[in-house]
Amino acid sequence: MARGTLIIISGPSGAGKGTLVDRVVARVPRVWVSVSATTRQPRPGEVYGEDYLFLSPEDFQQRVDEGDFLEWAEVHGNRYGTLRSSVEARLAEGYDVILEIDPQGALQVKEIMPDAVLVFIVAPSFEELERRIRRRGAETDEQVKTRLATAVRELALVDTYDHVVENDDVARATDELACIIESIRTDGGRP
Ligand code: 5GP
Repeated sequence: MARGTLIIISGPSGAGKGTLVDRVVARVPRVWVSVSATTRQPRPGEVYGEDYLFLSPEDFQQRVDEGDFLEWAEVHGNRYGTLRSSVEARLAEGYDVILEIDPQGALQVKEIMPDAVLVFIVAPSFEELERRIRRRGAETDEQVKTRLATAVRELALVDTYDHVVENDDVARATDELACIIESIRTDGGRP
């Protein structure tokens, strides 16, 4: 069984990464999405082990010290990280593995796994991004501002990505992402 490819998906909070990834996974076989660890508090409806492994800062630090993370980063004041062992196991089984991580983490992974394919998801406009974050209603005004400031910083890194997908329409953007993943299987997926 050929080893799978690592697909890194980044993009500002509110660009709709989660929705696109859910749809692609339902459609394309042999794709697995890594569940990250975080010190962030769960949002209403989020489930431990499905959305994230919600860890205390102490437990997160212990896993950093033990070298359990493939990458980790601080985003909006919380720590997020990808656990190495489950990702490695799935790649070895021939699954393409999706990491939904921020650009700091994406660049760390690209350094150690240069074959990883990087995809950046953007909202059609900055105004639309703000509208989507506010509509979700999960953050205070202060937190919304932090997320928008992070979005501006992250957008500056878009050129380091192999593909950029504009989430103007969920069905269309899902098709584009699915095509990228399918093309990785046939020609390596580089643009
Ligand atoms: P949220 O709090 O909205 O779930 O995620 C905030 C940000 O953290 C998003 O940009 C998301 O991509 C990023 N993120 C989630 N998991 C990881 C991870 O394991 N590593 C890194 N570096 N970023 C992550």
